[in-house]
Amino acid sequence: MTQPLIVANWKMNGTVAEARQLVAAMKPGLAGVKGVGKVLCPPFTALATVSEMLEGTDIGIGAQDMYHEDSGAFTGQVSPGMLAEFCSYVILGHSERRSLFGETSQSVAWKVAAAKAAGLSPIMCVGETISERETGRAEAVVDGQVLTGLVGVSNIDGVSIAYEPVWAIGSGAAASPDDAQAMASRIHQVLSDRFGPPAAETPVLYGGSVTDENILDFMGQLDIDGALVGGASLKPDVFVALTRAAAASV
Ligand code: PEP
Repeated sequence: MTQPLIVANWKMNGTVAEARQLVAAMKPGLAGVKGVGKVLCPPFTALATVSEMLEGTDIGIGAQDMYHEDSGAFTGQVSPGMLAEFCSYVILGHSERRSLFGETSQSVAWKVAAAKAAGLSPIMCVGETISERETGRAEAVVDGQVLTGLVGVSNIDGVSIAYEPVWAIGSGAAASPDDAQAMASRIHQVLSDRFGPPAAETPVLYGGSVTDENILDFMGQLDIDGALVGGASLKPDVFVALTRAAAASV
């Protein structure tokens, strides 16, 4: 495994002033954690400020979504090239975008291809709903999201996959480490079958109610290469502790 990757998804939280405070509170602690990739994904409006504040550090920056076209009459959208001025990562296909904003695996596929073409590293989110899990369809759903979301790319260099069971996001009820490991292992196998054995090295992150108290349970799993963190990433002490624990687990 390459070094673990811990990604903070701040979602729609934080004015520029609040983002400034969050970064100021986290930066010293995060900068001291070595051996782990650290990425902050603030709202679009705070990207410029956060990128200025993190200049010269080893803390990366990501966006939470983008549109797949380069420019044009797409009111309200943000292009890959616009993001590339500020960040090197972009979260794509988050379940909130799929359930609230009509994102499909096909639209995710366009975005993944466009992000890669712009030199961004996509963090593509996949995950089943509770009813899909309870009816035994979790694996088929996740396989489909992985394969369709990557249909537009011929290699997956630079891509990470975040396995986020929908029912675990923001609920306080994380998946069991065994279930998360089983799905992460399956994703590695699906990637390897589709793109060849080196694709089994693609980072697969777990996301869904990760905290400083359970991160080690996930990092101890063979196929889990990091975490996508929502709520806990807005608490500087918790996020720094979580990142430090992930680094110590390697
Ligand atoms: C997320 O938003 O991707 C997420 C995993 O949120 P939380 O950590 O709050 O469950």
